Amino acid sequence: MDCNVVLDLLPLYLDDCCSAESAELIESHLKNCKSCSKALENMKGKDFCEEVSISVPEKISRIEQFKASLIQSVALFVSFALIILGVTFESVTPLGSSNGNWAYMLIVPATAFMVSLANWYFVRFYKNTKVFSWFSSLFNFMFSLCGFAWAVIHYGNFGENFLYPGIGAFVALVLCVASKILSSFYAKCMGKE
Ligand SMILES: [Zn+2]
Repeated sequence: MDCNVVLDLLPLYLDDCCSAESAELIESHLKNCKSCSKALENMKGKDFCEEVSISVPEKISRIEQFKASLIQSVALFVSFALIILGVTFESVTPLGSSNGNWAYMLIVPATAFMVSLANWYFVRFYKNTKVFSWFSSLFNFMFSLCGFAWAVIHYGNFGENFLYPGIGAFVALVLCVASKILSSFYAKCMGKE
């Protein structure tokens, strides 16, 4: 049997997809031909590597994907809880709902953070984790600016004094940093480079 014919048949032989007669011919050839035996060993090695490289990341990614979903839902829950907290506090402040103190301090920053989570659904379209996390943080920052602009127009002032927007700006900054860190962790769990 010619070596080239054997080499063509080896994949079928490995998968047990050739007839008993062909298998016998191949086996008798392999006994006398070192180069074909070597080719067979290489094919076996290849198959083994492919199996390993496919199965291992899948096992990791299931756990990692669960972690990613957990981070996402906790971020959503916490930001919503902060909004509810802000709305509750605002309704009990002496000046009532015309007083934007809590809107500046908590509602606007928390809403911006929550809205920026929408970007997380697009994680697979980003080039890598670094770009994704910077954009997540940038969206958070931009939504905060829009929110503060809305609050100034809506309330017609900066709260009772500049202390409240000041605290709000600090909270927004903290949330932008949190967005950077959390989105980076989220992207890595989703298998981003
Ligand atoms: Zn041969």
